[in-house]
Amino acid sequence: MSVEVRNITKRFDNFLALDNINLTVPNGDLVALLGPSGSGKTTLLRIIAGLESFESVDGADILFKGASVVGNRVADRRVGFVFQHYALFRHHTVYGNIAFGLKVRRGRDRISRKAIRERVMNLIHLVQLDGLESRYPDQLSGGQRQRVALARALAIEPRFLLLDEPFGALDARVRQNLRRWLRRMHDEIKLTSIFVTHDQEEALELADRVVVMNKGRVEQEGTPSEVFHSPKNAFVMDFLGNVNLFHGRIESGRVSFDRSEVVADGNKQTRFFVRPHEIELLPENIDNTGLPAKISRIQLAGAIAKIELVDSSNKEIFVEMSHDKYSMYKFQNGDSVFVVPKNSIVFPEDYSI
Ligand code: ATP
Repeated sequence: MSVEVRNITKRFDNFLALDNINLTVPNGDLVALLGPSGSGKTTLLRIIAGLESFESVDGADILFKGASVVGNRVADRRVGFVFQHYALFRHHTVYGNIAFGLKVRRGRDRISRKAIRERVMNLIHLVQLDGLESRYPDQLSGGQRQRVALARALAIEPRFLLLDEPFGALDARVRQNLRRWLRRMHDEIKLTSIFVTHDQEEALELADRVVVMNKGRVEQEGTPSEVFHSPKNAFVMDFLGNVNLFHGRIESGRVSFDRSEVVADGNKQTRFFVRPHEIELLPENIDNTGLPAKISRIQLAGAIAKIELVDSSNKEIFVEMSHDKYSMYKFQNGDSVFVVPKNSIVFPEDYSI
């Protein structure tokens, strides 16, 4: 089911938490709301769920599958919610937790014990907790508890799923495993899902589409590859990974380092951004295009070599390269080298990182 957010503004007293948000989540997609703390991600999620009000300005609306749900009761919206803290019922078993939302149904919605059992056992299998149905929450690991929370949210057959930092409380390794598991599960059940995270790696790895938020606004929305490779502004570029900021000028359409005090007529002074893996380090200053810098730290543990440098004004520069490339030059701490950007992006607006 598609979800549409139109002209949503939210204030807490005088504080503008959401500033005219417009967003469409296509049916069956897994979408990440990504942004720094306080950017309004959770508030937006709560508004979609119906747990929070918003300003009733002209055109403000929340639509599920094209129909407005404003005014509908939270329960009638049939949204599955998974929070960072599992919030499981401590005195219920895994089975009891997952079955809870089905057992409390009354009237027309009520289903038989047999049907409940069948649905719950299917969900236990889906979240790979077979054999653990009689355990209590405190007899489970953090990752297992979060999978119970997910199964419980799915039990009510939600029209879509909202996840608020679902892996936030877990350690890095468990987090990574659960991430892959959630992606596989999503591919299997194709339930439209929106999850909140402030972890860019998590958003890029897991989501079909990423919504980058900042100060209550959507800065950019697109596929992980679009937002990473074609960031709309400096905030998005900075937020989606390490970035180096250089001062330079544009000469005949090319960006070059600005090392002079005076900028010659016709050459526009600018600032440009370069990702660590888009920088070449050379022992010689070929064509006089490199920026002199000194290597201050080399980190070789991991899939790539990470090299930190400082320029003549002690500004840090971060570079990443393959181990093959690294072993070609055999750079050492303290080496004087030249920094040459292979790819850079210039943004017109003022932004400091
Ligand atoms: P985090 O990643 O830290 O959870 P977030 O992006 O989810 O942040 P929100 O929780 O949506 O951010 O909060 C957005 C802003 O609104 C924050 O500055 C927060 O302090 C404020 N805010 C949220 N809820 C309330 C409230 N009930 N009363 C007052 N201010 C609030």
